[in-house]
Amino acid sequence: MTTVKAYGAKSAVTPIESLSIERRDPKPHDVEMEILYCGVCHSDLHTARNEWGGTIYPVVPGHEIVGRVTRVGDHVKRYKPGDLAAIGCMVDSCRECENCKEGLEQYCSSGMVGTYNGRERDGSGITYGGYSKMIVAHEDFVLRISDKLPLEGVAPLLCAGITTYSPLRHWEVGKGHKVGILGLGGLGHMGVKFASSFGADVTMLSHSPSKEADAKRLGAHHFLLTSDKAQMSKARNSFDFILNTVSAPHDYNTYLGLLKTNGTMVCVGAPSVPAEVPAFNLIFQRRSFAGSLIGGIPETQEMLDYCADNGITSDVEVIDIKDINESYERMLKGDVRYRFVIDMATLK
Ligand code: NAP
Ligand code: ZN
Ligand code: ZN
Repeated sequence: MTTVKAYGAKSAVTPIESLSIERRDPKPHDVEMEILYCGVCHSDLHTARNEWGGTIYPVVPGHEIVGRVTRVGDHVKRYKPGDLAAIGCMVDSCRECENCKEGLEQYCSSGMVGTYNGRERDGSGITYGGYSKMIVAHEDFVLRISDKLPLEGVAPLLCAGITTYSPLRHWEVGKGHKVGILGLGGLGHMGVKFASSFGADVTMLSHSPSKEADAKRLGAHHFLLTSDKAQMSKARNSFDFILNTVSAPHDYNTYLGLLKTNGTMVCVGAPSVPAEVPAFNLIFQRRSFAGSLIGGIPETQEMLDYCADNGITSDVEVIDIKDINESYERMLKGDVRYRFVIDMATLK
């Protein structure tokens, strides 16, 4: 065991603070990594504050992790000390169920093990995430990253990237599709980049007028201010696909109405309160209302390789770990352009 410096929450109502955790020594298939950067996802905030229930304290959030390999177990062939590597939202799954065999570990029938707030499958304890100096994980859940891209911009690909890439690929979004990306935050800005890179006609659906210029710079062709009734009513029945990344409670029906016949709205945003959707909003126009969870390991590697080939990274504001609580407050106000990433060298 190694004692490792970390930052985490000791309860739902206390700030993220300095603490220490224990990491196991690498087992034969384990990779140990020094963490260089860790992105700050809105899920970190939901979990730290127990907004979804089920948080086990202390919790060390962080699942957008890039770093350098420091040690590997005897059986590890694909990584060696000194390599760059990454870990996303999962560190284990059963490997045997139908979904795991298909590379859809996020939908493992016995439940994947989250990078934080997860229970290790061997009963050895709770998982701790990337707001820490070092992490150990099974090589099957470690990803390769390019040394050509800025590492701080790569970190958010591990959650914000794959969570938007996966549904856009699954629903085969591309040329000829009119696509709306709802909410311009961490997930939303990656959604805009991918959807435009796949050739779709992309509209940013945002309730923040100040984000219009950025949305267009990120690749959106149009900007629709969702608080403007006239713009919203003009856009009714016009979208093939909407990717909903909103983190706060909101009325889904407002946006379902923007879908045309056979259109689909996929929720990746996960507000803590249930949605109320009258069946009529789906029945008329034969609309679909769907969800999507991160992405499997093979698809995450595919996405990282796609980003390396196409020069895609996240737009980030690098922060000192001491500013993590202020970053949470800014994220709640929508004041993030467009992902906070912790420089782990500031964790001393
Ligand atoms: P974020 O950076 O805070 O972005 C959320 C965006 O939602 C904001 O920038 C804002 O965009 C919009 N928004 C916020 N409050 C709103 C409101 N009251 N009404 C309308 N729009 C509002 O968060 P994130 O890190 O992208 O995460 C977004 C959500 O996805 C979170 O709930 C997170 O837990 C979830 N998530 C899910 C998965 C998954 O696998 N499904 C993975 C990662 C994260 P505008 O200012 O442009 O309106
Ligand atoms: Zn996340
Ligand atoms: Zn499984």
